[in-house]
Amino acid sequence: MLLLNQVVEYCYSDYQTNKNTCFCAASCGMDCNSCLEKIHFYKASRHYDCRSMINYYVCKYVYRQASEMAVLLRNLPWHQFPYPLRVLSLGCGSCSELYAFLYHRNQLGRCAGLQYVGVDRNYLWQPVHRMIVYKADKYDLELAFKYGDILSLLRTKTKSMAGGHFKPNVLVMQYLLSDMARVMPPDDL
Ligand SMILES: [Zn+2]
Ligand SMILES: [Zn+2]
Repeated sequence: MLLLNQVVEYCYSDYQTNKNTCFCAASCGMDCNSCLEKIHFYKASRHYDCRSMINYYVCKYVYRQASEMAVLLRNLPWHQFPYPLRVLSLGCGSCSELYAFLYHRNQLGRCAGLQYVGVDRNYLWQPVHRMIVYKADKYDLELAFKYGDILSLLRTKTKSMAGGHFKPNVLVMQYLLSDMARVMPPDDL
C-alpha cells in the first residue's frame, strides 16, 4: 500500500477517535474544516493548533498537494539529479512532497535510497511524522524530523541519520513560502 494512503488512513482514524476531545469544539462545533477555512481564507490569526485540525488538513489536502508536486517533479530533469536524493523540507507539515518523490523514484525504476529531513515549528505534526517513520523501512527511506525555528536549527546544523552532518541536495520550501505570504505584509517578503 502506498505510504500516502497509509498516512491518510491513519489521520482519518485518529480524527474519528479524537474529534470529540478537540479543544476547539466551541469554535468549530467539532468540524475542523471550518477552522481550516478561517485560517486559509479569512486570515484568522490562529494557526494549526489542534490535533483534529491537523488530521482534517491531511485528509482534505494531501492528495491534491502530493499530485501537484508530482506534476512539478515530472517536469524537472531527473536524469541530471544526483542520487541518492537528500531532501531538506522546511515547513514540512504533512510531507506532501515526500510522497511525490517516492512516486517518481518508483516511476524511474530507481532503487536508490531517499533521505529526507523534515523541519517544522509545529510539534502537532509529530504523530503524523512518527507514523511515517514507523512505515519508512518498507519504502527504503531514511527519515528524520526536527522541530523548532528553522534558522536556529540550520545554525546548529541538521544532523544526519548516520550521525554525521546531513548535506541536502534538494531544498523544499513549498509551505514555508506560502505561510510567509499569508502572515507577512507584502513589502516584508
Ligand atoms: Zn480542534
Ligand atoms: Zn476545529
